[in-house]
Amino acid sequence: MLPWRKKYLFDEESLLFKQVRYPLKIRLLKFAGWLVVSVMVSAFYLHLFEMRFGSPKEKMLNSEIENLKISYSILDMRFAEALNTLGNLRKSDDIRYRPVLGLDTIPSFYRIPATGGVERFRDLNFLKNKDLIVSAREKLEQIRGMATVQRESFVEISNAKDEWNRMNEYLPKICPVDVSIKRGDGIKFREEHPVLGTARWHYGQDFNAPYGTEVFATGSGTVVAAGWNSEGFGYHVIIDHGYGFRTIYAHLSKIDVPVGLNIKRGDRIGLSGNSGTSSGPHLHYQIDYNGSHQNPLWFFSDDLTPEEYRDMIMTLNSKSRFR
Ligand SMILES: [Zn+2]
Repeated sequence: MLPWRKKYLFDEESLLFKQVRYPLKIRLLKFAGWLVVSVMVSAFYLHLFEMRFGSPKEKMLNSEIENLKISYSILDMRFAEALNTLGNLRKSDDIRYRPVLGLDTIPSFYRIPATGGVERFRDLNFLKNKDLIVSAREKLEQIRGMATVQRESFVEISNAKDEWNRMNEYLPKICPVDVSIKRGDGIKFREEHPVLGTARWHYGQDFNAPYGTEVFATGSGTVVAAGWNSEGFGYHVIIDHGYGFRTIYAHLSKIDVPVGLNIKRGDRIGLSGNSGTSSGPHLHYQIDYNGSHQNPLWFFSDDLTPEEYRDMIMTLNSKSRFR
């Protein structure tokens, strides 16, 4: 019975229906009772409905969870792709760039950070779908670690490349005279010196250059000697190339460069001749590395033809290998 429905009683005295008026307190109590019962019945039916179909909010949350799962799966795939790309970069780095520039290989344990298992993501333990999230987070951490190491490696490679370019410019690498000029004696032990007549070492490479042949600096550097040498070199030039290397050009007839001059590879330093202890016009060319004599043939492969290169290899003295 609805609480607001009016109730009438038949008054036998007045022969009229009269509205029954309950006191306010009773009416309020009745209304409250009705309200409680209504709410309980509604709640009961709502519960039945939700048990069967799920609440709209639950439905919304479930579909959101499904969407999130898909998003995380895609994210996980993208992370795997990024890891793969980084892995390829790492391979080029370790196999190509670093060895060419003489840099050590970066150890794997430094390259790929340890993921350390699920324990690191203990904060996610309460989640039902934590596996997906853990997998993505692990990959992300690996990407961060690998990318950082890769960046450092590239900086190192870039610096090494600059230094390598500079070193290539400074090291003695070309023939000091026209390559068509025939080579004479190379570095070896001579039974008899052509002038002194005694047995002694020959420390350089001779070129049978006609008197007045142009002589060129074989690498960039600074002229540290230019003038007469009384111990056999005659008129000679010494260039310091840095990195422990010096080149000596001896028995010259003319010198073009003063001591202290910075010169580039290929600059003319003078003309060949027959000065000093020399049995005929030729150029004596010598390379010293930290004071020890090197076989110059090892150093000017750049401007040789394949035939000349083969010839050079054949005549190499194994004792004079660059150390
Ligand atoms: Zn010589």
